[in-house]
Amino acid sequence: MGEWIGIVEEVIEPVTGEDAGLAGPAMHPFPGARAPTGFTPGTLTVTLDGSLLPLPGRARIYACGITPYDVTHLGHAATFVWVDTLARILRSAGTEVVLCRNVTDVDDVLLEAASRAGSPYDRFAAIQQFYFDRDMAALGVAEPTLQPRAHTFIGQVIALATGLLARGDAYQRDGSVYFSGAATAGQSGLDPETALRSSAEYGDRPDDPAKENPFDVVMWQAVRDTSADVVAWPSPWGPGRPGWHAECAAMALHAFGPAIDVHAGGADLSFPHHAYQAALSERFSGVTPFARARLEVGIVTLDGAKMAKSTGNLVLVSDLLTRYPAAAVRLLILDRAWAETWDYQPADLAAAAGRLEVLQAAAGRPDSSAAAVDAVRAALADDLDVPSAMAIAEESGGQAARVLGTLLGLW
Ligand code: ZN
Repeated sequence: MGEWIGIVEEVIEPVTGEDAGLAGPAMHPFPGARAPTGFTPGTLTVTLDGSLLPLPGRARIYACGITPYDVTHLGHAATFVWVDTLARILRSAGTEVVLCRNVTDVDDVLLEAASRAGSPYDRFAAIQQFYFDRDMAALGVAEPTLQPRAHTFIGQVIALATGLLARGDAYQRDGSVYFSGAATAGQSGLDPETALRSSAEYGDRPDDPAKENPFDVVMWQAVRDTSADVVAWPSPWGPGRPGWHAECAAMALHAFGPAIDVHAGGADLSFPHHAYQAALSERFSGVTPFARARLEVGIVTLDGAKMAKSTGNLVLVSDLLTRYPAAAVRLLILDRAWAETWDYQPADLAAAAGRLEVLQAAAGRPDSSAAAVDAVRAALADDLDVPSAMAIAEESGGQAARVLGTLLGLW
C-alpha cells in the first residue's frame, strides 16, 4: 500500500479539495445537511426495470467497472452515479447493499497503453485507478464494498474455464479456451449482423479462425511470446491471459456466488459483455438467472457520438468540477430516465445548477406533508423515477425536498 501511494505521489500533483470538487455543494439552505429519509423498512417495494428488488434483505449489486487506462469522462460518471444512487435508495429503505465494482486491470487495451507509456501494466493501472477514484470521490460516489482487481483472480478464471470444459460448454484450441456462445448471441435479441458488429467492436474477434462459431468467446487467450515483459500467467493449457467476460464472471462468482440482484454498467456493455458474463456464470453454476435486474445506464454522447478516448470527443469529470459543484453534475446525470441515451450540452449543466438552487430553496421552505415525502420515496422506488420525484419535491418543498436531495447525494 505504501509503495502504491508512493507511485501515485510521484506523478500526481496535489489537488485542493475545491479544485477536485471535494467541497461539494457550496451552501445548504436549511440547517442540518442531511435530512432523515423517512423510509420505514417493509413499507415500500423498489422496482428496477420491471423487477422487484429485495426488501428486506441484502441487495447484491455487481457493477462492471473501469479498465484503468483512460481518463474518467461523463459517460463513466453517469454509470457510477446511478449505481451509487440506487444503493442510497435501497439502503435508506432498510436493505443492506453489498456493491462489488471490479477493476479490469488485465485487458489488451490497457496492456497496449501501458506499453506505449513504458510502464509496467500494474503500475500504470494503479495510477489510472487513482485518478478514477479521485473523480468518483469528488462526485460523492461512495466506495464500493468490494473492489476486486482482475489480475488477482487468475486462478478463479482458470477454475471457471476448467469447469466449463468439463461440462462441454467450452473447448480448447492451441492453448486457448473458448466458451461456446452461439446460444448467448441468439438470446440477446439482436440480429446476427448487429451482434457480430458489437462483438468485433468490443474485442471478441469473431473472425478468429480458431473458433468453431464466431460468437464463441475466449476465456483464456494463449500467449506465445514468453519474453520477460509480456504479461502472461501459467495455466493447464500453457501461458496466457484471461478474457474480459471470464474475468467478470469469476469475480462475481467469487464475491456473491451464482446469483446477484443487480448487474450494472453502461448500456454499451449489454452485448457482448453483460450477456456473456451472465452466460458463463449460468452455465457454470446451473443457476439462472444470474441477475434479477440489470441497470444498464444510457450512453452519454457528445455531438451525437459516444464519448471515447480513441475519438477524442470527451467531457472530463475533472473539467466539469472546476466550474460547477459536484451536486450540479450529479443532478445533470440523474434528472432523466436512467436508461436514456443523451447528448451533453454545456447549457444543460448550467440548467442543472439552476435546478439545484431551486431544489435547495424548496428544501428551505416550511415542512411539507407526510404524503409528499411518501410520494417522493414512491417515485424513486418506481424504477428510480427522479424527474417525477423532482417535480413533487419542488412543488411541496420542505421535508420532501430535503429527503430527495439526501437520496440523490446532493447534500
Ligand atoms: Zn463485467
